Amino acid sequence: MELTMSQRARYARNIAVSEIGEEGQQKLLKSSVLIFGAGGLGSPAALYLAAAGVGTIGIVDSDSVDLSNLQRQIIHRMSSLSRPKTRSAAEALSALNPFVRTVLYQKRADGDSITDILRDRPWDFILDCTDNYPTKFLINDACVREKKPFCHAGFLRFAGQAMTYVPGKGPCLRCLFGGVPPEERSPSPAKFGVVGAVCGIFGSIEAAEAIKYIIGKGELLTGKLLTADALTMTFRKIAIPRDPDCPACGGRQE
Ligand SMILES: [Zn+2]
Repeated sequence: MELTMSQRARYARNIAVSEIGEEGQQKLLKSSVLIFGAGGLGSPAALYLAAAGVGTIGIVDSDSVDLSNLQRQIIHRMSSLSRPKTRSAAEALSALNPFVRTVLYQKRADGDSITDILRDRPWDFILDCTDNYPTKFLINDACVREKKPFCHAGFLRFAGQAMTYVPGKGPCLRCLFGGVPPEERSPSPAKFGVVGAVCGIFGSIEAAEAIKYIIGKGELLTGKLLTADALTMTFRKIAIPRDPDCPACGGRQE
């Protein structure tokens, strides 16, 4: 299938990137990415993926837009206050790129719903854009079980982190953290805050991981935890080994 004139114009800067080209753009147009959370991370991630021409974007979120969200959740507008975040996000994506199909899950990801959501479509890549550890581990365990690649990211104050899991190719979140850290060791952004721009950095990193995975180019954050502290502008990549006894991925890798 050839790109149309309009697609060539819209995606000209993608196509000009030697690693993407027309072939990579075709892959993006055919791809589907599922995003858990239309908040601080999900906002920039979804906007960049829609702009890049990812064909189908799934969004899972049960919340409505609150005034306190607008400090960082840049996909939402004042006009969306009190409306479901999924609807608000889908409208923003459609306004940006009406050729992107959105699939909305106006529900909480829990032990009952997550497998259905993951199996609902042949998702190519998953983004964990949630803000709490129980949901992050739920996504991790479900993606490991369903053999789905995903990018994890988290943030607090001026800092953030990201890592990508690819089945058979590296550690998962449980290899890194074991289990859900106790509340006193996992301070919440709701209490301690976060700088919106830091969400922007890490949501963009997640979108870049998805794009690289889809076009099959570059190096992913597989087996590497990227940490960034925007207060000192220190970026680090820490090698993370796989735990052969990991309760999620141990013994499952080829
Ligand atoms: Zn693991």
